[in-house]
Amino acid sequence: MKILILGLPGSGKTTQIDSLSEKYGFVPIRMGNILREIAGQGGETGDKIKSIMASGELVDDGTVAKLIKEEAIKTDDNFVMEGYPRTVKQIELFDPGFDKVFYLEVPIEVVKDRMKGRGRADDSDGAIEKRVQVQMEDMEHILDYYKNVLVKVDGTLPIEEVFKTIEDNLR
Ligand code: AMP
Repeated sequence: MKILILGLPGSGKTTQIDSLSEKYGFVPIRMGNILREIAGQGGETGDKIKSIMASGELVDDGTVAKLIKEEAIKTDDNFVMEGYPRTVKQIELFDPGFDKVFYLEVPIEVVKDRMKGRGRADDSDGAIEKRVQVQMEDMEHILDYYKNVLVKVDGTLPIEEVFKTIEDNLR
């Protein structure tokens, strides 16, 4: 099964993916982690990706589409993904053909507060504002594109309830 968890940064995607992966064995594929790993390796590509991530801008569509395709192939179509696609262009370059797409809906102010509490290196106030702004613009298009397999979940509910809703929709 190919699952996508959508939501603004700080909407609780990571927690839900951990649970889905643990309970059902879906392979977690996290775009942000793949990029952070490459950034950590340094070199020309790594340094470039690192500075883009620090600014809150998006890494170019061609690069992320290629990276995610390589990961998806490895899992034998049994994965739960986050962080990709972030733009319509990315969908055009590589659409994994998700069976289910879950959108964790959380008010924008809550998203910002949660991110500030996370304290990650690329989570400066400026980077947070920028990331939320960029993602809001693209999210509407992505939600529309996947409307036939989309399930919207209230991301302000307790973690267990969000998980239960996701589980119920996998059957
Ligand atoms: P995340 O961990 O998902 O919050 O991603 C952290 C940063 O990685 C983002 O601010 C972007 O710079 C970059 N990034 C993650 N996913 C993508 C993507 N699908 N397309 C472009 N850039 C991305």
